[in-house]
Amino acid sequence: MSRPPVRDDLAALTGYHSPQVDVAVRLNTNEAPEPPPPEFSRAVAAAAMAIPWHRYPDRAALELRTAIAKLYDLGPEHVFCANGSNEVLQTLLLTFAGPGRTTLTFEPTYALHSHLSRITGSEPVAVDRRDDFSLDVDAALDAVRSIRPSVTFLCSPNNPTGLVEPVPTIRSVLAAVAEVDGLLVVDEAYGEFAPHSAVELLVEETPLVVTKTYSKTWAMAGARLGYLLGPAWLVEQLELVVLPYHLDALKQAAGLAALRFVDSMSARVAGIVEERGRIQAALTELGAEVWPSGSNFLLFRPPRPADEVWQALVDRSILVRNTASWQHLDGCLRVTVGTAEENRRFLAAMADILEDR
Ligand SMILES: *Cc1c(COP(=O)(O)O)cnc(C)c1O
Repeated sequence: MSRPPVRDDLAALTGYHSPQVDVAVRLNTNEAPEPPPPEFSRAVAAAAMAIPWHRYPDRAALELRTAIAKLYDLGPEHVFCANGSNEVLQTLLLTFAGPGRTTLTFEPTYALHSHLSRITGSEPVAVDRRDDFSLDVDAALDAVRSIRPSVTFLCSPNNPTGLVEPVPTIRSVLAAVAEVDGLLVVDEAYGEFAPHSAVELLVEETPLVVTKTYSKTWAMAGARLGYLLGPAWLVEQLELVVLPYHLDALKQAAGLAALRFVDSMSARVAGIVEERGRIQAALTELGAEVWPSGSNFLLFRPPRPADEVWQALVDRSILVRNTASWQHLDGCLRVTVGTAEENRRFLAAMADILEDR
């Protein structure tokens, strides 16, 4: 039997994995702790009944894009939707990076930025952040000017650190990116949990896009829907690579239905932000080093080896993300903010584990 070899440039890669362990309290993948309200599910069910299933969906997803754009006082020509913001990122890379071109990330950051760069044939270049995970702006500007990347990524709030990029920092990086005819992508998957957004920097003649997702804030990770906000000329170019009818009719309906419940979503976000403060204070009290977060998760370094603490949590049926073996993240764990009850169980377990010392 013969087996065709995969592309030479893919052979050295490993896929992206997030272990799924069966536990009672899952705080490892930054999902929303609760589903959207039941009225949302009913609205989606009603919309499903009205879908002409024998027809292709609206290829331009115009109604959905118009409704999303309205949230930001924009028109639909500034919005592009895809199957999760990961597909938005992949589409951007297929259009603006690819073979012979480089991308730039500031590590540690979201692993998919470099991973998607590789699988689209682009060459990712990584520049380190400072030890406290803040961006050294001068080093970043030097990197942009010398590497001249086609696509530069910032992630704000940054995953896995939770840090929010100051607006002046984004402005400076954007200016350098524009000098080298590059594109700046600000990944705001957690933007709604943060005090400010790069959306305010969007201008038609500026090479900036901001990517967002329904997966976290909207409690709709199961729907796989994400979008970007950017200049109309850029959104138009994405049509070059996107598959025809890539956004199915039910997803478009679900995305629209969600926008009828903005108030309930905002209330949940406020609740998560409040819980986040409580967890941060409690972990600090327990002797952990905790990074300030503008997100729905917290990165912390417990005062005991992270692998031991992670296992002791699993033994108590609580799963957090073990980031200890990730580059730059020695001894660190990442916990997603859960329901008040889940957070209580997590903190009680942490107190128990750390008292055992
Ligand atoms: C979770 C996450 C995403 C979301 O991806 P989807 O494909 O929309 O689920 C994007 N960027 C970052 C930084 C994330 O953490």
